[in-house]
Amino acid sequence: WFFGTMSRFEAQNILMEPPNDEASFLVRKSEKESIGYVLSVKSNNAVRHFRIPHKDESFYVEQTQQFSSLGDLVNYYCKHSLNDIVSLGSPCHKKKPNVEDINHLLDDWVLPKSEFTIENQLGNGCFSQVFRGRWKNHINVAIKVLKNDSVDNTEFHREVEILKRLHHRHLISLFAICTESSPYYIITELMEKGSLLQFLRGKEGQNQDAASLIDMATQVADGMSYLEEQKSIHRDLAARNVLVGEDYICKVADFGLARLVKEPFYISEEKKIPYKWSAPEAISHGKFSIKSDVWSFGVLLYEIMTYGSVPYPAGFNNREVYNKVKSGYRMEAPSKCPSFIHSIMLKCWQEQPENRPTFKDLRDMLERSSYELESPPGGSREQ
Ligand code: ADP
Repeated sequence: WFFGTMSRFEAQNILMEPPNDEASFLVRKSEKESIGYVLSVKSNNAVRHFRIPHKDESFYVEQTQQFSSLGDLVNYYCKHSLNDIVSLGSPCHKKKPNVEDINHLLDDWVLPKSEFTIENQLGNGCFSQVFRGRWKNHINVAIKVLKNDSVDNTEFHREVEILKRLHHRHLISLFAICTESSPYYIITELMEKGSLLQFLRGKEGQNQDAASLIDMATQVADGMSYLEEQKSIHRDLAARNVLVGEDYICKVADFGLARLVKEPFYISEEKKIPYKWSAPEAISHGKFSIKSDVWSFGVLLYEIMTYGSVPYPAGFNNREVYNKVKSGYRMEAPSKCPSFIHSIMLKCWQEQPENRPTFKDLRDMLERSSYELESPPGGSREQ
C-alpha cells in the first residue's frame, strides 16, 4: 500500500481505475515537503486524502489515535472507521512499473540506429517527425527524427552532455542520440497521451475539472523549478512542448536542444518565432532567461485554463500581440478561471523580468491553491 512520492492527482487517477473498488487505499508521500505522508482512500466514487502528520515515532490521522509506524496506523484503520469510511479495504492495485528510465542499461549515449525499430508515427512537428519505437526490440521509446540537417555536431554533443545530467520526474528523460548519419535521432521516454495541447483539446482533456487543470500546471512548474535550480533554461515553454503520460503525469519536453534545433530556424524565418509565448525582452533583444520562461509559463497557464485555446484574441497577428503587450496590454481572465489563477498569470507577465516570480514560487502558489486536504475533526488540515 505504500506508493512512495506521488501527487494527489496521480493518487486519484490510480485509485479510480479498476480493479480498485470502494475503500481501496494507498499511503503516499506528498510531493510537497511540508505535507509529508497522506492516506488516500476511494470512497463514494471519489478519492479522499487524509494527511498523516508525524513527529518522532508518532503517526496519526486523528489526534486521539497515535501509532508508532505507518503500518500500525493502516492495520488499525483496516478494522476501524475513519470519518464516514467504515474501514480501509484492499490496498490499491500496483501497476507493472513503467520502463521509465533505460539509462542504467546504457553504457553510451550515442547509439547506432540499428538498435532501434521505428513503428507508427506519433506526431509531426516543425523540426522533427516523432515515432513510437523500440530499443533492442523490447523497450518502448519515442524516436524523434530531426528534419534539420544543419545542426552543429560539436554543439549538439555538448548540449546532450548537459541534458544527460538533468533528471526529474516532471522532465522528459533523454535516453540516447543517434548521430552516425543524417537525419539525427533523439531518443526519449514515450509519453502515451501525446502533447498537453492535444490532450487538452481532446475528449479526455475537456473532462478535467479546474483542480485537475491546476494540478497539471503545478507539475509543469515543478519540472521548471528543477531546471531553474540547475541554472538551465527552456526557451520554448508552451503546452505543445509538455507531454502527458499514464496517470496524467505531465513532463516538460524539448528543453536544451531547442536552442540548437529551433533558433537558427527562428532567426532565418522571423514569422516562426513563437511570439505569443515569448517575453518582450526575448523578442526584442534575444534575452532568454529563466524569467522569460516564467513569462511563457503564464501563457501556458492560460492555455491550460482554456483547454488549449490559442492565446490572445483571434485576429491579433504576431506583431500586433508584441506591440500591444509592449504598451501594457495583458490577457483577461478566461471564463470560469479562478481569479487567483489569473493573478498568477499577471505576475508572470510583469514587464520587468526581475519582478516575475521564480518557478519555485509558482509551484508553491499553485500547490497551495489546489491542495485541499481533507481532515477529520481533531486531525490536521492543510492551510
Ligand atoms: P517539434 O519539436 O519538431 O515541433 P515536437 O517535439 O513538438 O516536435 O513533437 C511533435 C509531436 O510528436 C508532439 O506534439 C507529440 O504529439 C508527439 N511527441 C513528441 N515527443 C513524444 C514522446 N516522447 N512521446 C509521445 N509523443 C511524442
